[in-house]
Amino acid sequence: MNIEISQVANLPSRFGDFKVKAFKEAEKEHLVIYKENLDETPIVRVHSECLTGDAIGSLKCDCRDQLEYALKLAQESNGMVIYLRQEGRNIGLLNKINAYALQDTGLNTVEANHQLGFASDERTYEIVTYILKYFNISKIKLLTNNPDKINSISDIEIVQRVPIVMEANKHNIDYLNIKKDEMGHML
Ligand SMILES: [Zn+2]
Repeated sequence: MNIEISQVANLPSRFGDFKVKAFKEAEKEHLVIYKENLDETPIVRVHSECLTGDAIGSLKCDCRDQLEYALKLAQESNGMVIYLRQEGRNIGLLNKINAYALQDTGLNTVEANHQLGFASDERTYEIVTYILKYFNISKIKLLTNNPDKINSISDIEIVQRVPIVMEANKHNIDYLNIKKDEMGHML
């Protein structure tokens, strides 16, 4: 992998003070948000970009709530959030909005992705192993409800799965149920 790595910088945030470092992988630029005194076996959240949720506050998904929960927990536990730029489960923003348009006609999130010719989840996690090794982290507690993520992170010992528990709303309840029923998420 040809990865370009930034300097470390301070990032004061509404969740407290963090350090940040960017990792550039081909055209994708990822951000690692972490505490200076990283725990020996830190709680790590691997968050995939969701512009509509993270930045706009969309209620179609639970991404922003999960991100904020992860940042708070990272702050409290000397942990890390790895923010991966794989928008729309890695189909990109334009395709994600096309999938949303199909959802407006009654398809669910998995059916919409399939209709556009994509798998239900196109994300990959090789860069996560690279980043954790860069920080000399060999053991983590992984903050996730997604069993695929546990299996996809190789060469790193996941000593514990820490669940993220979010409250559903009327807009995302169907989406959360699909995640649980068709994508194996532990909700
Ligand atoms: Zn989202």
